[in-house]
Amino acid sequence: MITLTFAGQVSRARRAVFERAAARWDTVIETGFDPIRFEGAVLTGVRIDVSISEIDGANGILGQAGPTVLRAGSELPLTGVMEFDRADVERLEGAGSFEDVILHEMAHVLGFGTLWRRKTLIGGTGTMDPRFVGPAASREFAALDPDGGRAVPIANTGGAGTRESHWRELIFGDELLTGFLSGSDRPLSRLSVASFEDIGYEVDYGRADAFDLPSFRELALMGITEAVRTCDLCRMGRTEPIVLDE
Ligand SMILES: [Zn+2]
Repeated sequence: MITLTFAGQVSRARRAVFERAAARWDTVIETGFDPIRFEGAVLTGVRIDVSISEIDGANGILGQAGPTVLRAGSELPLTGVMEFDRADVERLEGAGSFEDVILHEMAHVLGFGTLWRRKTLIGGTGTMDPRFVGPAASREFAALDPDGGRAVPIANTGGAGTRESHWRELIFGDELLTGFLSGSDRPLSRLSVASFEDIGYEVDYGRADAFDLPSFRELALMGITEAVRTCDLCRMGRTEPIVLDE
């Protein structure tokens, strides 16, 4: 189970957004594990420390999200952080995308894109065609596109927080875990659920949203182009987690 701590001024409405995201991920992946004593408390799930504070005003840095401590053995997250710039949160709320940004960034805390390299799940790194090579996600991608190749295309553009840590935007469009928030629906696909199985979680595919690969026309209607766009999600910093001693 995901538990949240809040530091500083986080309104009830904003806490509720984080709590809904945690509840959603808790339906998709199993985060419970044997009790571990950590920082004076007994943890049986993933603890995410949330804060919203003044960083650098609207735009610039959006914040930071990722795992901070990994369990010994499985190297799955024990704790993580989600830190946001208050001015950017207000802007995202105004744009109606705050809820999906939180759902997306919480995926990074749980390991999406942030534990792939550690778990040797990236092939073709540094090339124009990097792929996620986990067997479960590769199977789901083959179901979406039988001719798409044996592994899942991942982001081949963007900065360190985007490239090779998301699904490739020009293929997956409005899926929740591409590097940009495109479209308005942003489904959480079986492909994304499978990627969590590949990093070591038990998952429930029955909780995925319906998803099909968008056509070129649909991608164009979502405003997706080859051009590098200003995006919110690539303005997030990432953590470098440590592994807990046995
Ligand atoms: Zn992201």
